[in-house]
Amino acid sequence: MCTRSCSFCAVKTGKPTEYDEDEPARVAEAIFLMKVKHAVITSVNRDELKDKGAEIWHQTVKKIKELSPDTTIETLIPDVKANWEALEKMISAGQEVVSHNMETVESLYRKVRPQAKYDRSLEQIRRTKDFGKRTKSGIMVGLGETKDEVLKTMDDLAKHGCDVLTIGQYLQPTKMHIEVAEYVHPDTFAMYKAEGMQRGFDLERAVHWSKFLSCGKDTVN
Ligand code: SF4
Repeated sequence: MCTRSCSFCAVKTGKPTEYDEDEPARVAEAIFLMKVKHAVITSVNRDELKDKGAEIWHQTVKKIKELSPDTTIETLIPDVKANWEALEKMISAGQEVVSHNMETVESLYRKVRPQAKYDRSLEQIRRTKDFGKRTKSGIMVGLGETKDEVLKTMDDLAKHGCDVLTIGQYLQPTKMHIEVAEYVHPDTFAMYKAEGMQRGFDLERAVHWSKFLSCGKDTVN
């Protein structure tokens, strides 16, 4: 249950009734038992909580590191609505990578991600970078954006210190969700990949958790 209503997402919208304080320990135990080498963790938005869920995020990463110190962790965190204290709490538990998805180009925010703000998400990424974290973001294509808008989003992300960018085709989860405007051709993905590499999203250093760009089926994760 998420407090937001992004038009591409199949998670239910509403006010969550629970706050499961035992979740960090259970997540850590699952990762330990499965011997996960690299864990990617995400959450819904918890806008109703004063700290936006920062404390439970912090505890989750801490507990994973306690039980599995060799597991690297990537946290795909929500928009903290410019609560920068919450952001610091969320990203300061020892995770190696912090992601925050832009999801789409600026002109489609109202339609695709109505409770978010393009500039605020960029600032969140910049602050995460300033905090010393490896930063990652992702956008979907095929929602009606132009190529120039995708390139502008790449420019903005590069300017705000984003190390890693993933670009993927949007697929409609149900008929109730926003329609696919276009199935983007692999040649266009190849062009985005080349453009991204020119902007410093570098494939070569991907294995060292530095800048890389993954596009479509070439995703390197
Ligand atoms: S914030 Fe995340 S989980 Fe919530 S509706 Fe948007 S995409 Fe889905």
